[in-house]
Amino acid sequence: MIQMNNVVKKYPNGVVAANGISVDIKQGEFVYVVGPSGAGKSTFIKLMYREEKPTSGEVIIAGTNLSTLKNRQVPYLRRQLGVVFQDFKLLPRLNVYENVAFALEVIEEHPKTIRKQVMDVLDLVGLKHKVRMFPNELSGGEQQRVSIARSIVNMPKVVIADEPTGNLDPETSWEIMNIFEEINARGTTVVMATHNREIVNAIRKRVIAIEGGLIVRDVDGGDYGYEG
Ligand code: ADP
Ligand code: ADP
Repeated sequence: MIQMNNVVKKYPNGVVAANGISVDIKQGEFVYVVGPSGAGKSTFIKLMYREEKPTSGEVIIAGTNLSTLKNRQVPYLRRQLGVVFQDFKLLPRLNVYENVAFALEVIEEHPKTIRKQVMDVLDLVGLKHKVRMFPNELSGGEQQRVSIARSIVNMPKVVIADEPTGNLDPETSWEIMNIFEEINARGTTVVMATHNREIVNAIRKRVIAIEGGLIVRDVDGGDYGYEG
């Protein structure tokens, strides 16, 4: 589902954030990406949704080679792939319903289909009763639920999350993890960069550790492996 072949990413300032990364993530896997700050986790994630392009090497997502993808084709990629951020990135002037519906409206999905899919995913994240609320009326955990609902409303094959629990208290973080586990149980591949040692050690999944732009460990059911 996700393949990287010898990917190098050198930023214009000379920093090499990916230094020859090769990885193969199969459909239905749940993968944590761990490592110290500055190790290259966000870059690894950004290369997957083509927020950054590799300096050399290949990134292939659901059969699409991102290196040869034209800019105008990027929206098609984004339909195969949901993205969840630490800071939610909701549209402040749109209510919960509209934030989730937005991705379907831009692709001119049928209105009935939009309503059904939006209400289905809001039900999955437990926010059906708050459809008319605006982001600033919601707790952090609720905002993250909206952002997850938005990421899956297109029924993507892959959901990528960069520190999705980074701004949340421990209890809310566990609730958010339950939602990711449910999404994964339905067959969606999940790739999650995280610093949350308790979660990684408790909900055992494949762990990819990155240091200095290199994969230094890749273990099924592995632990977090860093102190503090
Ligand atoms: P992590 O997510 O593990 O903290 P990042 O991928 O954000 O790591 O960063 C890896 C390295 O690349 C760091 O040294 C960081 O300063 C650098 N870096 C990240 N983004 C950029 C950028 N847009 N321009 C220049 N350097 C960057
Ligand atoms: P109905 O068919 O009963 O009018 P819809 O299928 O239009 O309901 O919508 C399903 C749910 O989504 C309802 O609870 C409705 O209030 C809500 N909803 C639809 N559009 C919006 C919107 N733009 N903002 C907030 N809630 C909406």
